[in-house]
Amino acid sequence: MYFIREFDPWKNKFCTCPKKYSLNPYTGCDHRCIYCYSTYIPNFYNCRRKKDLFRKIEKDLQKIPEKSIISMSNSSDPYPTIEKKYGDTRRVLEILKRYDMRVLIVTKSDLVTRDADLLSEMRSVVTVTITTLESKKLEPNAPSPEKRFEAMKILNDHDIPTALRLDPVFLYLSKDYKKVIEEGIKAGIKHITSSTYKAKKDNWIRFSKVYPEIAKKTYDLYFKKGTNVGRSYYLPENIRREMMEKIKNVCDNYGISFATCRENLNMNSKSCDGSHLF
Ligand code: SF4
Repeated sequence: MYFIREFDPWKNKFCTCPKKYSLNPYTGCDHRCIYCYSTYIPNFYNCRRKKDLFRKIEKDLQKIPEKSIISMSNSSDPYPTIEKKYGDTRRVLEILKRYDMRVLIVTKSDLVTRDADLLSEMRSVVTVTITTLESKKLEPNAPSPEKRFEAMKILNDHDIPTALRLDPVFLYLSKDYKKVIEEGIKAGIKHITSSTYKAKKDNWIRFSKVYPEIAKKTYDLYFKKGTNVGRSYYLPENIRREMMEKIKNVCDNYGISFATCRENLNMNSKSCDGSHLF
């Protein structure tokens, strides 16, 4: 296989995703989120095109069953700023439609609405990520949360099921989650998935530079009292549970389904990736 790979090749022990495949139309991502988990990929914030992408994807598709779930994307955003110029993601969607695949989009960009016509003709679910309404320091080059809410509305107007990814949430920083959920519900989302920030060596360095006070307050919790899973450092379980329960309670009050991602807290009422919305 060239570009379509089985999801989670590392078999994370906390992952609750159904069987699916992962496809990143670009290498790297230019939204430049400071907490990004994918910056183990060299020169990651320099987003670039993939050579011979379309031909190789067609070859890959011949090797997997029809109606498979293809998740776009797990190590990058399928709508980086350069997508506006190149349109590679749109062309990939056209190919996936021909092969009758189910597509899960995960994005922080309102550019996804450009493809609403196509997505509404395929089996698709779009998950839009919003961490906080004050996202400029966390996600310096991503479209504003307002644009993302607007995108959810447009997608819903096209009858494309949407979910909100409130992820990652940060101890002492993510205080406006209720407002984010309320705005998401107004925009028509059907489900929420959330997850606490997992520190990795490289993202922690970036986070500490931007939020030195919070980093100071949480250092011991992550690196001395927390849990280590692979290359990620988790907050202690009781703190993560409390953070996720607060968000779940808001979702319960509004009657919207809730799941966590890689928390091992046994709190999920629906799929963690929105695939139940197909
Ligand atoms: S949008 Fe996702 S892949 Fe892109 S920089 Fe942000 S966290 Fe990383």
